[in-house]
Amino acid sequence: MAGPDLCKLVLASGNAGKLRELAVMLEPLGISLYPQSGWDFPEAIEDAASFIENALKKARHAASHTGLAAIADDSGLVVPALGGAPGIYSARFAGSTATDADNNLKLLNEMSAFTGKKREAYFHCAMVLVRDPNDPVPLIASASWWGEVADHPSGSGGFGYDPLFRVPEHGCTSAELPREVKNRISHRGQAARALVRMLGETDGNSN
Ligand code: IMP
Repeated sequence: MAGPDLCKLVLASGNAGKLRELAVMLEPLGISLYPQSGWDFPEAIEDAASFIENALKKARHAASHTGLAAIADDSGLVVPALGGAPGIYSARFAGSTATDADNNLKLLNEMSAFTGKKREAYFHCAMVLVRDPNDPVPLIASASWWGEVADHPSGSGGFGYDPLFRVPEHGCTSAELPREVKNRISHRGQAARALVRMLGETDGNSN
């Protein structure tokens, strides 16, 4: 599906959970994903105000340091009752060196007074592919996945906020969903499929 130079992509992230999920989704299309941790350069500074701008920054940064086409995902959990937090700060909600457990604990504490609709939340993913650092027509896809914040963690799959993200249609958290199910319905799965469709449509025009 992808043209020759798009069969090898660098993933502009050091997040092992994202790499696992994306690699599985892209592999059937003949696209191999290489984590940027295989190169030696500092991470991009994520200081933009939106998921899309941060994703674009990360993708251009990775392409410029590797010489490969790059894919970046900027994602996070948005809780409307918390004014959109943790949002673009999801990875560092509890501080710059926070672990997933630290972030989950902070989220639980901040949600403690909320019940019912106030516990609704969504994951958002902006996914960007640049063919080179100055690509004037990056491929951009984004998607959201609604659920609610559980009142205690359950499950050991996935990563990040998965143990606290309750998926009402499945009656469990996203950390309890089989990997294929999460990949099918998640924000990242939806965005990745949209991006892959775009790749198919632009293939031949851009290479
Ligand atoms: P990023 O690497 O700056 O995009 O930060 C993404 C952060 O959002 C992760 O570290 C997680 O805390 C959270 N996140 C994004 N996607 C997911 C998901 O699928 N499950 C759980 N947490 C997620």
